[in-house]
Amino acid sequence: MPPGEPVASNSEKDEDVFSEPKEKRYQPCFKKSDPFVEPLLNFDADTSKMEEVYSAVSHWTQIALDLKAKGYPIAEGINNWKKFDAKTREDARMLDDFLNLFISKNLYAQDKPYEVLRVLIAQGTPYLEFKEKMSRVDFSIKCNTIWENDAVAYRCNTCALTPCMSLCESCFDANGHAGHDYTRFFSREGGACDCGNQDVIREQGNCPEHGDESKRPKYEMNDVCIAEYIVMKLLVRLFLDYRGWLWSHRDFPAKV
Ligand SMILES: [Zn+2]
Ligand SMILES: [Zn+2]
Ligand SMILES: [Zn+2]
Repeated sequence: MPPGEPVASNSEKDEDVFSEPKEKRYQPCFKKSDPFVEPLLNFDADTSKMEEVYSAVSHWTQIALDLKAKGYPIAEGINNWKKFDAKTREDARMLDDFLNLFISKNLYAQDKPYEVLRVLIAQGTPYLEFKEKMSRVDFSIKCNTIWENDAVAYRCNTCALTPCMSLCESCFDANGHAGHDYTRFFSREGGACDCGNQDVIREQGNCPEHGDESKRPKYEMNDVCIAEYIVMKLLVRLFLDYRGWLWSHRDFPAKV
């Protein structure tokens, strides 16, 4: 959120505390018709020309990358933006205003208004390709896969530290538990995989993807620089929605 926009702020006094002096106040510097705005504003997965869409995405990706390189905060607070130069602050607010065009929509509307967020998050990569790439770097020390009743699960007495330890099929298969004393069972009540949870399973029982010794995949935070802004804004948006605060005052910067 940009400074000067605290929730329920409506007095001059609040403005003085949270925003820059009025004469320096940032003015939005893009138009609905700009080639880096229009294709995204009117995005339609079925009819949009993707080369125009990706070109617009690359404009915003570059801004996000530059902000990240300079260490600009993902969420502006009262003071954390003040040490940055005017151009950087202007870029950040432009990105902020731009993302608000999409995040200010009704949260419970149909999916359509949010499709463009997927395109932005993917930063110019086809969305499914991006999703696949992200799933390859998804990492957790514990599996925690949850299954419902009558799912197949495993229990290895050789590896278990407690009698109720259980493993999902994929973790069990990935380890193999060769020569171990194990049982395969239908989980009546459902359950969760304990792979990687060293309170209940010996390290030897983990699959290669879980546990303290598992290899962390290499990832590149620049791949998600727009996602960082979007996810933060969506969380704030969701929180405000829960608080009953309606987003009505900035569907689009008024002077554009
Ligand atoms: Zn085992
Ligand atoms: Zn596992
Ligand atoms: Zn598992």
